[in-house]
Amino acid sequence: MQLLNSKATGRAVGQRREKTLAPLQPLRAPLASSSVSIAQEDRGKLATCRAASPTAVVQPTRELEAARDPAEPPSTNGGDRSHETDYVVIGSGIGGLCCAALLAKYGYRVTVCESHYLAGGAAHSFAVGGYRFDAGPSFFLGIGGPPGDGSPNPLKQVLDAVGESVETKKYDRWVVYPPEGGFFPNIASGSAYEATILKHGGPEALAQWRALDKAMKPLQTAAGLFPAAALRGDLGVALTGARFLGPEMMGMGLIAPLLTGPFSALVDKHVTHPWLRAFLDLECFVLSGMTARDTLCAEMAFMFAERNAGRTAIDYPMGGSEAIISALVRGIEKHGGRVLLRTHVEQVVMEGGRAAGVRLRPQGPASASASASSTTKPELIRARCGVVSNASVWDTQKLLPPGAAPEQWRRTSLKTPALDSFVHLHLGIDATGLPSDLECHHLVVNSWEQLTGPQNVIIASVPTVFDPSLAPPGKATVHCYCAANEPYDLWAGLDRRSPEYKALKEERAAPLWEALERFIPDIRDRTELKLVGSPLTHERFVRRHRGSYGPGISAAGGAGWPGPKTPVPGLTVCGDSCMPGIGVPAAAASGMIAANSLAPVWSHLKMMDALLPQPGSGGAKAAAAAAPARR
Ligand SMILES: Cc1cc2nc3c(=O)[nH]c(=O)nc-3n(C[C@H](O)[C@H](O)[C@H](O)COP(=O)(O)OP(=O)(O)OC[C@H]3O[C@@H](n4cnc5c(N)ncnc54)[C@H](O)[C@@H]3O)c2cc1C
Repeated sequence: MQLLNSKATGRAVGQRREKTLAPLQPLRAPLASSSVSIAQEDRGKLATCRAASPTAVVQPTRELEAARDPAEPPSTNGGDRSHETDYVVIGSGIGGLCCAALLAKYGYRVTVCESHYLAGGAAHSFAVGGYRFDAGPSFFLGIGGPPGDGSPNPLKQVLDAVGESVETKKYDRWVVYPPEGGFFPNIASGSAYEATILKHGGPEALAQWRALDKAMKPLQTAAGLFPAAALRGDLGVALTGARFLGPEMMGMGLIAPLLTGPFSALVDKHVTHPWLRAFLDLECFVLSGMTARDTLCAEMAFMFAERNAGRTAIDYPMGGSEAIISALVRGIEKHGGRVLLRTHVEQVVMEGGRAAGVRLRPQGPASASASASSTTKPELIRARCGVVSNASVWDTQKLLPPGAAPEQWRRTSLKTPALDSFVHLHLGIDATGLPSDLECHHLVVNSWEQLTGPQNVIIASVPTVFDPSLAPPGKATVHCYCAANEPYDLWAGLDRRSPEYKALKEERAAPLWEALERFIPDIRDRTELKLVGSPLTHERFVRRHRGSYGPGISAAGGAGWPGPKTPVPGLTVCGDSCMPGIGVPAAAASGMIAANSLAPVWSHLKMMDALLPQPGSGGAKAAAAAAPARR
């Protein structure tokens, strides 16, 4: 099927002209320079948005497929995309799609606007020359079980809620290449993990590890007991969370400050062994882009919980990260929502001090006449209930007209520290003679001292190990990158077509080649396709301020991550700039929390009834059995 291409019809991804939406009609309001008015007679509708009319189920009409190939013809100036909906979601990252899917499930009319020609944000996949690459994440936990399996992963919970699933290959390890040479498997299970610590750190490190693990147990219990699906950003959480406040939660009040503080609070107490401290910092860095000093203890509690759960929990989605994005898009569409690609939001439209819609950037001119029409006809999407931004904390501010937001909030948001960016190497290689036991994930550490330094930690994956269909027969795909450690300033202001830019790409990709040679020594000879991505690539394709991995909000700083609510009426936020932070599960949780916060409490409770095992039920017992803290 054709991924959305608003082309001539101005319709969404896999969208047929649906009966449930109000007929598309251009808004009559004139476009002002900084803000746009919405027609007077429509204002009353804003007040009634909470009583959103349930939408009829619309079956998906297309599969996400060919349009993801860059060979797809460029966008043409299609029909007018203006229409009216309940919520507009700006951005189709994991957070935006999860939020939109749940809002649609709750019965709201939802339109997702995505700048890119592919959905997924950092988690999009793309195809070149018969190879299919994950642009970002390829490491997923707990997304592949049967519906209602009690997975604590919020992404899985959203998929369950909208009746979608992803086929995955389950596995249990990745390989670490430390600076002292050699390599060792890092196995995602408690006892195997202990064996690694004993081998590399010795008995003292193991004893300290066990003390830390013991200290983490109550935190794992607390983190596991309160599912993201029960969270919302208002007082309604007293009702939706009440059913999880059983006896097991008694005493958890004492634990809350530890959970919301830095992981180092526990590490400093129990671990002095230098190798183990560095190894724990490494785990934190690959999760949050920061060391134990700044990483939220709750994030680590989930990781400990998964590791101690005694199940093979790492999942590679068949078809790559695109399979997850496709499932979320299907979930949106089948509940009557739409995902518009190549649809860049220029500005949030304010009406009476409230976010009431979005103004779109005119689509690229395919002809002189198209160009003329795109400049004379502003396209507006009116959102009766409000706007949700999945853009980053910095980029959301750029979308607000002057004066729309309180100055202090605007300034604080813009001052949020940004983690560094990326260099990527995407390769299509000849797979002839590759070892049959080649692992998918590899983590190279060049120095334990400068852990977060530029190009020090390098991550690589060979997803064709699990899914050969991602490459032509006899070939393999490789994705290698430095995450959160490439300084944007090295690249700032460079013209992407200039020889300087091309030379810098080669220079900065050199350590990635060396990292790959640790496990495929003849990788250069095997390479048939090479793409180097820079911070500018990331900035452009994911529309991220300075191509950042995300906000560097320290758990030690006390400020905390922002929730879904903003001081701008009608504007909600989600994505990895929000609580609980960076990573696929966290971004999914933020989307879920945003949608829950916008839904009436009774709808939220109903969703939870369908989704989460009731405490004391058989499902709950099964989930409890799987949860480490209750074993
Ligand atoms: C290379 C890499 C590897 C990673 N590896 C992992 C991993 O293995 N496991 C893991 O859990 N996490 C990983 N992460 C982190 C994880 O992928 C991200 O935290 C998460 O996907 C971010 O989702 P998000 O909801 O914040 O949206 P984003 O991905 O930031 O998407 C936001 C979307 O909004 C769109 N947008 C912005 N402004 C506008 C506008 N004005 N109009 C229209 N659209 C707009 C953008 O185009 C973009 O598509 C990785 C990230 C990267 C980059």
